[in-house]
Amino acid sequence: MSSNFGIAIHGGAGTIVKMLLTEKMENEYQVKLKESLKAGFDVLNKGGASLEAVQAAIVVMEDSPLFNAGKGAVFTNEGTNEQDASIMCGKTLNCGAVAGVTKIKNPIRLVSIVMEKSEHVCLSGTGAERFAKMHKVDFADAEYFYTDRRWEQLQKAKKKEAVNGSDYSQLDHSDDTKHGTVGAVALDKDGNLVAATSSGGMTNKKFNRIGDSPIIGAGNYANNKTCAVSTTGHGEYFMRGVSAYDLSALMEYKNMNLKDASDEVIRKLGELGGTGGLIAIDSECNVVLPFNTSGMYRGYKLGDSSFEIGVYKD
Ligand code: ASP
Repeated sequence: MSSNFGIAIHGGAGTIVKMLLTEKMENEYQVKLKESLKAGFDVLNKGGASLEAVQAAIVVMEDSPLFNAGKGAVFTNEGTNEQDASIMCGKTLNCGAVAGVTKIKNPIRLVSIVMEKSEHVCLSGTGAERFAKMHKVDFADAEYFYTDRRWEQLQKAKKKEAVNGSDYSQLDHSDDTKHGTVGAVALDKDGNLVAATSSGGMTNKKFNRIGDSPIIGAGNYANNKTCAVSTTGHGEYFMRGVSAYDLSALMEYKNMNLKDASDEVIRKLGELGGTGGLIAIDSECNVVLPFNTSGMYRGYKLGDSSFEIGVYKD
């Protein structure tokens, strides 16, 4: 039986330092990351498809209030939760995405249906929700997504904005209030790579801002010839750098290996002034999880039994 399969996940990158995280919270994160990895790995281990594995892993994180996706999504300036998500299959280059949905319990379930059942790649707002209704996707009301922690983060961001007088400062991803986007990348026993990303975006975002998470090539990309990649961090920079596709392109056109190509992408992100990280897996089951912030919730579990969970830089 092939041991050349595995999954990697992230739960967001940002200012994640021991000082800001209680031991209890750190434990809670580790438990959820393990649960998410197990959910995805079990699918792959039984011979299931990477498409199912990434969804199983992400649903665990979307259902947890710890992460900025699904329950626990960050608040917009108007006090709403607008979620973005995407999924891509490396075999077919088929993909699906949604942007700015407010009522979908698990956006990652919806994007796979957009990919398979709609003639479009990306649906947004109320239109995406009408499509979701047609396909009997689970809905949730505003109370379901609400958490005190995220609400307080919005109040803090607004106060800071009142002092700084600038919208842009509110998009500073070095702030500890912004991280938490979730992502998963997987290679199954058939050699198929899939990437998925789901996010509430950034605290205090305005004007129906859409982040990198639903943008194929920026926050998410998969190609069986190269790798599957999901990003997290200050989305505007991942969009400007077309970072997820850039990683794949460096491998395809420059013949770079996954490690060198991903280091190059993070280097370029930093050069632009962006902060964040990514997870990626290639067709030989190599995994990388680089980031330029002080921490990134992350982990991987592979068919050869290697397993790791991480929070801080070292
Ligand atoms: N990349 C996401 C966005 O900009 C946020 C994050 O990853 O924390 O919407």
